[in-house]
Amino acid sequence: MALSDATRLRILFATPELAPWVKTGGLGDVSAALPAALAEAGLEVRVLVPGYPALLAAFAQRRALVQVERPGGQLLPAAISQVALRPGLELLLLECPACYERHGGPYQDRTGRDWADNVLRFGLLSKVAALLASRDTPLDWRPHVLHCNDWQTALAPAYLRYRHPAAAASVTTIHNLAFQGLFPATRLEALDLPASAMAIDGVEFHGRISFLKAGLQHGDRLTTVSPTYAREICEPEHGFGLDGLLRYRRDRRGGDLVGILNGIDTREWDPATDRSIAAPYNSRSLALKQLNRAALGERLGLDLAADTPLLGMISRITLQKGADLVIEAAPTLVARGARLAVLGSGDATMEAAWRELAAAHPGRIAVRIGFDEPLAHLIEAGADLFLMPSRFEPCGLNQMYSLAYGTPPVVRATGGLADTVVDCTPRSLADGSANGFSFAPATTEALLAAVERALDAWRDVETWRRIQRNGMARDWGWGQAARQYADLYRSCLPAAR
Ligand code: ADP
Repeated sequence: MALSDATRLRILFATPELAPWVKTGGLGDVSAALPAALAEAGLEVRVLVPGYPALLAAFAQRRALVQVERPGGQLLPAAISQVALRPGLELLLLECPACYERHGGPYQDRTGRDWADNVLRFGLLSKVAALLASRDTPLDWRPHVLHCNDWQTALAPAYLRYRHPAAAASVTTIHNLAFQGLFPATRLEALDLPASAMAIDGVEFHGRISFLKAGLQHGDRLTTVSPTYAREICEPEHGFGLDGLLRYRRDRRGGDLVGILNGIDTREWDPATDRSIAAPYNSRSLALKQLNRAALGERLGLDLAADTPLLGMISRITLQKGADLVIEAAPTLVARGARLAVLGSGDATMEAAWRELAAAHPGRIAVRIGFDEPLAHLIEAGADLFLMPSRFEPCGLNQMYSLAYGTPPVVRATGGLADTVVDCTPRSLADGSANGFSFAPATTEALLAAVERALDAWRDVETWRRIQRNGMARDWGWGQAARQYADLYRSCLPAAR
């Protein structure tokens, strides 16, 4: 597709989540904020997302566009409807009641079991994404680039390869390599893929179908959500068996794999305008942060005194997030006078451990199991320190929220945490870059030592203000990432057919 610099790029952004309606983690936030930032930068973006009940209810006024009568294999027929969100940005809802209109999460039922037909639900999403990006599209709009996100849409580049070859270029973004979408090889026909796709240079991964591998094999470009994670996933330790393929793609031609750091949605996450917190503030009115601290303490029933540091944590309660490290460190932290405010859900055993800790330390450890967006905002604003000791972290949003809220994070130096948090040392304090605290070994001792350093700094108000302001001074918004994605889209256009 020949394209002059003046041509307005058309992007189809395919995603299984869209905040605030359907979100299990950072991908939902990214899918709302990045397309909006791209549209703001002048691109024409359409976001393809399943018609989940929350979205259908939110957009009752949507316009029916077309039917996809025969998606192929055992994929169910679907309809596409359209919602104009703002200039340059539209939603395309993939409506298939039997697939997407259910009570429960996007991937699991209410008991936490994967939906048995996920292979067909996200096969359909991927297939329709490919269809809309091809010359066979039933729409009168065709993108230059199809941007796929995580395994749920990553089969689309395989469909472009095997079923719709006259098509847009494709980009596959890895938001988390740990989730790959693995299914039995026997489902190939149901997915409408040819037997030849079940090959080492196709969708096959150790005898199964891997949606994510399909996207990594067939996407014209690959991205992940931070430069450090882009390096880490090329190593066996973080590569989940895909590091060989990722190294190959990284080293090919000019390099097909890049890391682009996520931004945060500053319309939602700005302490100066946040309506979920007790007292808005900015870097010049940090004293007001105390009011949020008091409100948080009151809401969670914590005994707070001026000299008791309040540590916050919001995350999926999983080994990835280092939840076990914090659980182990919690009694020591409390013994040293700290208070803990924890919000999250995940692993049942660790959830129970948190509940026991809260019961054993009333007024000192407060735990809320569940998903609570307003409380997440209040924790970011009210805590003194934020804990995020992830074992691996593709990008991480919460540490950026913390930095923007003047709540210095204590993090493990990995992935996006390493790219955003500058450990406080005499040198980084002197050059004005120190904005938090980091440590390397994934151990409770290392976490405790980093928290200890942070608390020493916290007790010195002048030093603390400098660290807080360093974090708040940087622009954490999506502008820079949007420019990098736009450059990437242009760079892969020669691949469009
Ligand atoms: P991940 O996507 O790996 O879960 P991120 O830090 O990238 O982690 O993004 C997590 C997102 O989900 C953030 O917006 C965070 O505030 C939010 N979040 C996670 N757990 C909860 C919770 N229990 N309640 C409210 N928001 C949560």
